[in-house]
Amino acid sequence: MLQEISLLHAGNCLIDQSELVTGSEEGTLVRVPIWMYLLRTDDALLLVDSGMPTECIGNERYFSGEQDGDHILPQMQADDAVARVLARQGYSIGDLDALISTHWHFDHAGGNRLFHGKPVLVHPAELEQARTETALPVWVDLSLDFRPVADGDQPAAGITLLHTPGHTPGHLSLLLHPSGERPIMLTIDAAYTARNWMENLPGAMVDPALGMRSVSRLQALAREESAVVFFGHDAAQAQEPLWQKLAR
Ligand SMILES: [Zn+2]
Repeated sequence: MLQEISLLHAGNCLIDQSELVTGSEEGTLVRVPIWMYLLRTDDALLLVDSGMPTECIGNERYFSGEQDGDHILPQMQADDAVARVLARQGYSIGDLDALISTHWHFDHAGGNRLFHGKPVLVHPAELEQARTETALPVWVDLSLDFRPVADGDQPAAGITLLHTPGHTPGHLSLLLHPSGERPIMLTIDAAYTARNWMENLPGAMVDPALGMRSVSRLQALAREESAVVFFGHDAAQAQEPLWQKLAR
């Protein structure tokens, strides 16, 4: 049984409104939270995502000079690195049974390099995409112990992985069935915020049409399961009592 779900805050990022909601006006930076999720079942301890790379610590201009340089400004402190975030919960990386890596953007896979010797669950499409790139970002390490997963896989009791391509080719969302509580859906970056979800507005996606099909599928599943939905980067939602209770 899935005994505990913890939302671990791992820094923030300033992101241009036009990245968060496609078509909205460029030029306004919005501050959004970065999350990791710790899932504890009767017999497994799993981390979902590993936050930002340490290169971003104190370095808002990390992406300056790149295409999105003015649109994405990481706000990371030393305490937001994955090892420190886990230490605050009384754990080390060695205590984890596996890492679920939802996709390989800097704010989700930044600490993956530290997971040598641990199973890293990833959708094969994310791996394939990386293998075709000529220059990989520093945080992508193809020598990890990858375990390819498929849509519907359940790596541990109460945890279902959903392949939701669009934001990236191998993007994963999660449907969680905590013991004795309402199901929780983690959209991750299939929907950044409630606004993307409620108004069917895409955020940054490599394939917006495919991404919106993934969102429709998640919406139907959330209704079917009466799940409460937690979005990938919604600063306002994180203040709601339900989520404050799970935030560590
Ligand atoms: Zn993200």
